[in-house]
Amino acid sequence: MSSIYDKYEAVIGLEVHAQLQTKTKAYSSDKNEYGSTPNTNVSVITLGHPGTLPKYNKQGINFAVKMGLACESNITKDMIFARKNYFYPDLPKGYQITQDETPICTGGKIQIKKDDGSVKQVALTRIHLEEDAGKSIHDLDPFNTLIDLNRAGVPLIEIVSEPEIKTSQEAYNYVTEVRKLVRYLDICDGNMEEGSLRCDANVSVMLKGSDTFGNRTEVKNMNSMRNVQRAIDFEIKRQIDLIEQGETIVTETRSFNAANGSTISMRSKEAANDYRYFPEPDLQPIQVTQEYVTKVKEQMPPLPNFLFHKYTKELGLSEYDAQVLTDDKSIALYFEEVIKYTENYKSASNWVTVNIKSYLNDKAIEIEDFDVKPEKIGELIKLIDSNQLSNSVASQKVFPVLIQTPEKTALSIAEENNWIQNSDEDAIVELIKKALEKYPEKVEEYKSGKKGLLGMFMGEVMKLSQGKADPKVANKYLRQELEK
Ligand code: ADP
Ligand code: MG
Repeated sequence: MSSIYDKYEAVIGLEVHAQLQTKTKAYSSDKNEYGSTPNTNVSVITLGHPGTLPKYNKQGINFAVKMGLACESNITKDMIFARKNYFYPDLPKGYQITQDETPICTGGKIQIKKDDGSVKQVALTRIHLEEDAGKSIHDLDPFNTLIDLNRAGVPLIEIVSEPEIKTSQEAYNYVTEVRKLVRYLDICDGNMEEGSLRCDANVSVMLKGSDTFGNRTEVKNMNSMRNVQRAIDFEIKRQIDLIEQGETIVTETRSFNAANGSTISMRSKEAANDYRYFPEPDLQPIQVTQEYVTKVKEQMPPLPNFLFHKYTKELGLSEYDAQVLTDDKSIALYFEEVIKYTENYKSASNWVTVNIKSYLNDKAIEIEDFDVKPEKIGELIKLIDSNQLSNSVASQKVFPVLIQTPEKTALSIAEENNWIQNSDEDAIVELIKKALEKYPEKVEEYKSGKKGLLGMFMGEVMKLSQGKADPKVANKYLRQELEK
């Protein structure tokens, strides 16, 4: 059934702010730490006292260059900082030190999945460095707004996309990719609930096929990936409904209300502040040399797209497995360790994505808190591949004991518990003979065509071996004996 909504398409551009996990703030030596006692990481520089001077944080620049390299952006050689002036209680200096005309990175792209699963590149406009403001707290005191300036001056990068995102699902996937990248790079913890990763969504709609963008609104205050998607869905519908009623969309900033999934107007863009940007006089211009960029390149860890390619193209894993392995950096790093100990990549992938991940899910813990070393998983795979352990004994018996006693080896656990599979062929043939002697009339029935009895004999052999006979070996000799 077609509806009015099908006539329109959405245009979405995202601005993602990522707090950089540097030791100290962007322009001072105050500690950059989430959760400290309010107003303890605050010096005269953060407060902007007269006569104090900022000093830029080199680690912050290193982190921003890393992000730029990961997105294949151009790194700006000569850059300056800019002052963005506005008055707000959580901004003690009365201005924010940011970048205006010379962002540290320009261009680049983020690769995302479209709704149909195919791959798409979303172009970036720029990535620039700036500082966070303090935090106004409205819900602690019934009469006053409280202010915590620990966050004032915390370094941020703002990643601005071109308006190339088409659906709320693509937006969700985009933020997921950005979060994955900053986590792989170890430059931001990506925690949206704590606000270390924040996203403003610019949304407009136009008739399908049109080449003129509609007026956009900018939605703020989504504290989860899911809420980014909800806010965009709400905005698209709201805008289409208004247009269908013959109204025009007001260019404005709106705030998302998670309680009911709606957005409300905060301020119109027409009345937007004139920020009076000008070059920051207290900070020197910075040169990011080619040598510096080369050095940073050498410090880059493997990134998810690189690993995905390696797993699918070199290790022969399915796209699904490669996706699950690379979604989370720590899982990927664990897997990277496991495959140092085994070349059975498919099995290694199964152990990590199935056995280990479901254990982690059950216990609601992260792989960092999983005590079994990757080497032990490699050993376990070797024991299976050399037929010393069956898959089921390995996963249902040895693995749980290994988790309880991670200092032991898989082999010693299997030996202590008498779980090593008996693949000694002569011994198995002995057991087969015993089984056949027990049921001479069934042997006759088998020989006269009742092949289904094979299963019954297998069961008997396994019982005689107390479950330790290698089923593949037993099966082979059982057929041989029965055909004699
Ligand atoms: P502002 O300071 O006004 O927020 P920015 O340049 O920081 O402007 O961000 C603009 C963002 O809005 C970019 O992500 C851009 O892709 C997006 N954008 C621009 N025009 C539209 C539009 N018509 N519809 C949706 N998004 C848009
Ligand atoms: Mg904006």
